[in-house]
Amino acid sequence: PYDGPSAAEIARKRAEFLSPSLFHFYSKPLNIVEGKMQYLFDERGRRYLDAFAGIATVCCGHCHPDVVGAITAQAGRLQHSTVLYLNHAIADFAEALASKMPGDLKVVFFTNSGTEANELAIMMARLYTGSHDIISLRNSYHGNAAGTMGATAQKNWKFSVIQSGVHHAVNPDPYRGAFGSDADKYARDVQEIIEFGTTGQVAGFISEAIQGVGGIVELSPGYLPLAYETVRNAGGLCIADEVQAGFARVGSHFWGFETHGVVPDIVTMAKGIGNGIPLGAVVTTPEIARVLTRRCYFNTFGGNPVCTAGGLAVLRVLEKEGLQENAHAVGSYLKDRLRALQDKHEIIGDVRGTGFMLGVELMGVLVGKGGFYGNVFRITPPLCFTKEDADFFVAVMDAALSKL
Ligand code: PMP
Repeated sequence: PYDGPSAAEIARKRAEFLSPSLFHFYSKPLNIVEGKMQYLFDERGRRYLDAFAGIATVCCGHCHPDVVGAITAQAGRLQHSTVLYLNHAIADFAEALASKMPGDLKVVFFTNSGTEANELAIMMARLYTGSHDIISLRNSYHGNAAGTMGATAQKNWKFSVIQSGVHHAVNPDPYRGAFGSDADKYARDVQEIIEFGTTGQVAGFISEAIQGVGGIVELSPGYLPLAYETVRNAGGLCIADEVQAGFARVGSHFWGFETHGVVPDIVTMAKGIGNGIPLGAVVTTPEIARVLTRRCYFNTFGGNPVCTAGGLAVLRVLEKEGLQENAHAVGSYLKDRLRALQDKHEIIGDVRGTGFMLGVELMGVLVGKGGFYGNVFRITPPLCFTKEDADFFVAVMDAALSKL
């Protein structure tokens, strides 16, 4: 049984000693004291089915024993900064990660977060091409440091700090987008940005495969190949932000970009790759990776032994437990059941997504926690979520919607 401080006591300390930045999300946040696979427990031992996984950060399940075991074993042996000495953990994980990548994408630089990974990717694109302009999609989220806040394209997440050299292309959103699902028209906008907003040469293009923070928005089929071609014709590199969609979450493939049939020049990842511990990565080709040798560049904790030992364990669990296949099978089942709920409840405007990256958009009223209008349920559970969990989730949603 839990014998720590009460929720009220924690809330009091939080209000006094912690930044108020995020605390307006919930009026009465839960006090979560334990996690086990797809479940979370509060201080009274009440169990919750976790269909959000800390914003798609937990992929193997909360406190998966293999991952906990790998992390604690490494913490007991050595934790250290990343530069200076040789250590096998970072090399082993880099090798394993490279084996999951297509083409010549086999050089890894580890970071501590998705923001850091995208900052680095954007800088590398600028260094490699000698150009400055970056194109990102409206409604995207790529991070909240200077460069990535510029690439992020939703006013809710932007402060008025300098965000130079980023252009935001019309979002190829099949549900709400200006051109429906006409990929050609959306790609034409990328071409026009290049022609009218830049020198004709750009550093790169960054995009999620499915927009997560933006409310599980899938890109119009055929868009990414066209956008990539357009950007490459202008000398730019194509960056795939796999922070949410990557690492088996989309089910049908290991990476979200694979569902679009493209091969990026740079891939960034975080969240799921560490099953909840701070770990991010940028993967690119040996040729592009070389730009960082022009100066000294390092990250004190990026790729540290404890986090990379954890990352390797995550990859092994995904394979051992067939979690990509589970995300595909149970995710498809859950999507079908949500579609059936859509027939029953007029308020559901759209059900979309792939694998365990699903969204339910409500019409008319604003509830829920995701998307530009704050009206999208974002469903991104741990990948061990079962069919029974999906049934329970749908039943609860059905009951709640029936009461509206
Ligand atoms: N890219 C995407 C697609 C994200 O969803 C996020 C986080 N929501 C980030 C980048 C930034 O990651 P982090 O919060 O780890 O900096």
